[in-house]
Formats: sequence, structure tokens, C-alpha cells
Amino acid sequence: MRKDKYHAYPLSFFVGYDPVKTHLMLEKQVSRDYERKYYRFRIDRWYGGIATADCVGCGLFCKFCWVSDKVRRNPVKVGSFYKPEDVVVRLLNLAKDRGINQVRISGGEPTIGRGHLLRVLDHFAGKGMLFILETNGILIGHDESYAAQLSSYDFLHVRVSLKGCNEGEFHMLTGANPDGFKLQLNALKNLLKAGVSCHPSIMTSFSTEESLRELTIRLAKICEKLVEEVEVEELILYPHVIERLKRHGLKYGVAHTPDKVPPDQI
Ligand code: SF4
Repeated sequence: MRKDKYHAYPLSFFVGYDPVKTHLMLEKQVSRDYERKYYRFRIDRWYGGIATADCVGCGLFCKFCWVSDKVRRNPVKVGSFYKPEDVVVRLLNLAKDRGINQVRISGGEPTIGRGHLLRVLDHFAGKGMLFILETNGILIGHDESYAAQLSSYDFLHVRVSLKGCNEGEFHMLTGANPDGFKLQLNALKNLLKAGVSCHPSIMTSFSTEESLRELTIRLAKICEKLVEEVEVEELILYPHVIERLKRHGLKYGVAHTPDKVPPDQI
């Protein structure tokens, strides 16, 4: 946690991009028909081992993001378009090779290209996998019907990754309009209302204890269960992340080198 109170700026201080618009604009570059761009398929260590498809493109520009500049800045040039069924085959093969039953889409924002994502999920029906959807929640918070559509999949769990603990921190970390934070909270509301399994994770390395406490109160107003299920996410200092933070002059509190991430965060 940081000790200073940078989050105490009045919100009128901030002007930022509209995160819904950036997601929808990017959609035209990284999805076509029911295809979506991906740049990598791999097994990753999180959740005790999970088959992972890394998609291209995110409409937030988090200053601590672990995705490389090469991928973030070149959504048109990086990666290839994949059909939903091809993504499913690759993930299933990876999972089978390792004897695991968990898959996820990460790397960018998986809710961009709704038609593609829903078809990927359709193909996973009956495959005995847990599908973890890691999202910043912007599009789900913007459009309630997205959560309603996700409720068809009983093998789906959604992890909504909150960027900071309030509107000011959200803006500081993403550069987006502060109101985007409300969309993140709305995503949790919409998912719960639709009966979709979900939990919030919170990037806390830039937050104060006070802001985290205040967020807990806001989450409890949505649903007490969310408070119990909060996942604390702390900064991982990959070399390109350190470089990016320096570039933005962003100070942080607790952080870990990639080889020393606490076991309870893996
Ligand atoms: S939401 Fe995730 S993928 Fe998108 S910029 Fe932020 S950290 Fe990176």
C-alpha cells in the first residue's frame, strides 16, 4: 500500500478517454465475424496451472500492465485471427497434455468480440473444464445483456479485475475517465444479478488502506459475498513493467519480482 493520498484529488481534476469507446474501437481491429486475434497459447502457473489463450487488444491502458509494448501498441500487426473452435481445440489439447481441467483467456480483454467469446464458450459445454474469464469488466458493466448471455454457461467463473479502489485511482492507473470505475463495479452487479459466478480482484499496490476500506464498503453494498471473495492482486515487477512505471512516474507500494510472488497469489 502507498501511504500518501494522491487519490484525494477532486474528480474534476481528471479528464480521460471513454473506456467503452476504446474497447469498441479496438473491436474492429482484433475481431472479424466470429474470429478474434490471439498471440499465444500456453500453460501458465496461476490457479495451480491453467491452459491459457492470450488474446490481442484491451481498451484500457493500465500503466502497470504486464503485456509487452510490442503487443499492446500493435493490435493490427500482432497475432493471428482464430475461429472459436480452433481456440477451443488448442486450449483442450494444452489442458489434456498437462492433465488439468482449467482454461482461461488472458493477455488482453477477452470480452472484446462478444460473438467470438460466446461461441468459444458454446464449444466448451460438456467438456468438463472450468473456464475462467479474466476481465476488466468495462463492457459487461456497460451492457447488462452481456452478463445475461454469460449466465448460460455453468462452467464459467468471471474474475473482474478492479483497477484501484476508487474513481481517482482508476483514472491514475488507466488514464481513462474516472467513471470507468463505476462500470467495473456495475460489471459485478450485472453478473450477480444474472446469476454468473464471479469475484473481484483488486490491484492494491497503488492504493491506500483507507481507499481499500472504502471500496470494501462499496462492494458490501452490492453484495456481502463480494467482500469475502476479494482477491488481492499485487504488482509483479517484470522488467518491462518497471520500465513502464518509470516512464509514467508511478510510485507503488507492495510489489514482487516474478520469482517471488507469494504462493497465495498464484
Ligand atoms: S485491463 Fe488488463 S490487459 Fe488491459 S491494460 Fe489493464 S492490465 Fe493490461
